Amino acid sequence: MIGQMIRPTVCYGSLLSACAKRSLIPTSTVPASVHLARQFRLCSSKSSGDGDGGSNSNNKTTQTWFNSNDITRNMAPSDIADYLQHTHDRVFDHNRAWAEDCKKKDPEFFTKLSAGQSPEYLWIGCSDSRIPAEQISGLGAGDVFVHRNIANLVVSTDLNVMSVIEYAVCHLHVKHIVVCGHYGCGGVKAAMTPKDLGLLNPWLRNIRDVYRLHEKELDAIEDEAARYSRLVELSVREQCRNVIKTAAVQQSYAKNQYPVVHGWVFGFEDGLLKDLKINHKEMLQSIQKIYNLTD
Ligand SMILES: [Zn+2]
Repeated sequence: MIGQMIRPTVCYGSLLSACAKRSLIPTSTVPASVHLARQFRLCSSKSSGDGDGGSNSNNKTTQTWFNSNDITRNMAPSDIADYLQHTHDRVFDHNRAWAEDCKKKDPEFFTKLSAGQSPEYLWIGCSDSRIPAEQISGLGAGDVFVHRNIANLVVSTDLNVMSVIEYAVCHLHVKHIVVCGHYGCGGVKAAMTPKDLGLLNPWLRNIRDVYRLHEKELDAIEDEAARYSRLVELSVREQCRNVIKTAAVQQSYAKNQYPVVHGWVFGFEDGLLKDLKINHKEMLQSIQKIYNLTD
C-alpha cells in the first residue's frame, strides 16, 4: 500500500528487552546481527513504512515485496533462522505467561471460557497491526467477535465478512456492531492514488467508489492530509451503511431493537477513538426505501 506513515519504533530489540525483563527470553541468545539491525533501525527512524503491508511508493527504486523496515534485511543470512526461531518461541513464552496470569487472577477463567461465548460486540476493523481491538477498547476475552480486513470494508460479495455478520447477529446476538477505521490507513491512501495495484484493484475499488460518491466534498479540501482523513471517515460511514443494508441486521433490529451500528476512527497520534456518531435509526430509515429486507 502507499504509505506515508512512520512505523512505530517498536522492534525486535525493544520487544526482546521487554521479554528479557520478564525473564522470558535470555538476551544472550540474540544473534549479534540483530543488535546491529536494531542500531540500524534506530538510525533509520525517518524511513517510511506502509500501513497494512505492501509496496512502498515513496522511493520507486525500493518498490519490493519486502517491507523497508524489515529487520532481517540487515541480518547475516546465518542469523535469520535463529531470529525466526526466537520470534516464534517468543509467542509461546508470552502465551504460557498469559495463561498463568489469567489463572492466578481468576482460577475459573478457563472453565468459563470453555463454556462458550456471548460477546456484546462485533468489531469490523482494519488488518493494520497497530490496532488491537481488545486492547484499545478495554474489552477482554469473550467480549468481542472480531473481523479484520484491509481498510475495514464491508462488501456484499465478500462471503467472509457477510458470514461473520450473519453469525454474529443471528447466532451470537451481538448488541453492537462497530466499524472501526483509522487515520493513516494504508488501504485508503492507496485508493486515493490512481494507479494499477494488481490484485488489490477490486478491493480498493470500494474505497474509490466512496471517493466518487463524495467527490465534491473531498475535492474541495485543499490540504491532502485533511482530505485523506476525511475519506477515512466517509469510508467508515459507508461501511456502516453496508452493515445496515444486510438482512440479518435489519431483521434483528426490527425484532429486538438491536444490534446498533457504530462508526469509529482510531488515531495513532493520541491513541483515541473518535465516535462518528452514526445515527443507526436514521441511517436505516434512509436506506430502507431501496434496501428494505425485513419483509
Ligand atoms: Zn488500515
